[in-house]
Amino acid sequence: MTQLMAGKRGLIMGVANNHSIAWGIAKMLADHGAELAFTHQGASMERRVRPLAESVGSSIVMDCDVEDIASVDAVFDTLKSEWGSIDFFVHAVAFSDKNELAGRFADTSRGNFTRTMTISCFSFVETAKRAAALMTDGGSMVTLTYDGSQRVMPNYNVMGVAKAALEASVRYLATDFGRDAIRVNAISAGPMRTLAGAGVADARLMFNFQKQHAPLGRTVTLDEVGGAGLYLLSDLGSGVTGEVHYVDSGYNTISMPRLEALKT
Ligand code: NAD
Repeated sequence: MTQLMAGKRGLIMGVANNHSIAWGIAKMLADHGAELAFTHQGASMERRVRPLAESVGSSIVMDCDVEDIASVDAVFDTLKSEWGSIDFFVHAVAFSDKNELAGRFADTSRGNFTRTMTISCFSFVETAKRAAALMTDGGSMVTLTYDGSQRVMPNYNVMGVAKAALEASVRYLATDFGRDAIRVNAISAGPMRTLAGAGVADARLMFNFQKQHAPLGRTVTLDEVGGAGLYLLSDLGSGVTGEVHYVDSGYNTISMPRLEALKT
């Protein structure tokens, strides 16, 4: 392993268990020398997150629900008092009512539209602002998105709209923070078997379809998304900001399955 992240400290938000994309990135960063702090959503998640955090030598594990701004403030206050400054931030948080990740987008309710946008998009704006204030020597942040922001994916519905807003937020935040040497990017991951991923109706069908038709003929691994996180959060990505970087076996580049696949 390299020591690309040696001497760098940062916050990982969005680990639920060892299948979480945030965990894939965290592990990769820790393997390359980073010092990490984690948040978990509520006491039930703490049981899973704390042992994972401890396995990579982290002792800062904080409760945070992004719907509760006081808990968000407490996280960044703790980081300020423990570390003074941070170098990177990973935001891997999203939520929508499962009942509306099925059927027609047209049937999205006002309440769930607002809640989905608040948790899955605006929480990045609120946390990025607080993270940037602690990046006194420059820094890098990454959020997670999905191609349902750009193209219609069955059942992804309001989450696709929230991810479109999140990707636009990445570009605006990159401009806001760029002169302070703070970079802001998104990783657009292909479908992965996680708790959030399972919330989308017929997730397994989408997973298998993309596996069959992506140029690489497979889905991506947590390590591969972690590798992209390492690139964007380390100095390797020092010239990159405001980007949406796809890690999806190339699925976003095709407009239809290979003809050979249709003939079988
Ligand atoms: P996951 O279920 O492991 O992680 C989602 C996280 O969001 C959980 O840790 C959960 O606690 C957190 N969260 C939800 N509401 C919250 C709230 N109010 N306050 C604080 N935390 C909250 O699933 P994942 O797939 O690893 O999701 C991480 C990110 O990756 C999400 O933004 C998701 O949309 C994105 N993503 C997932 C896929 C996929 O196929 N799984 C593909 C592309 C992008």
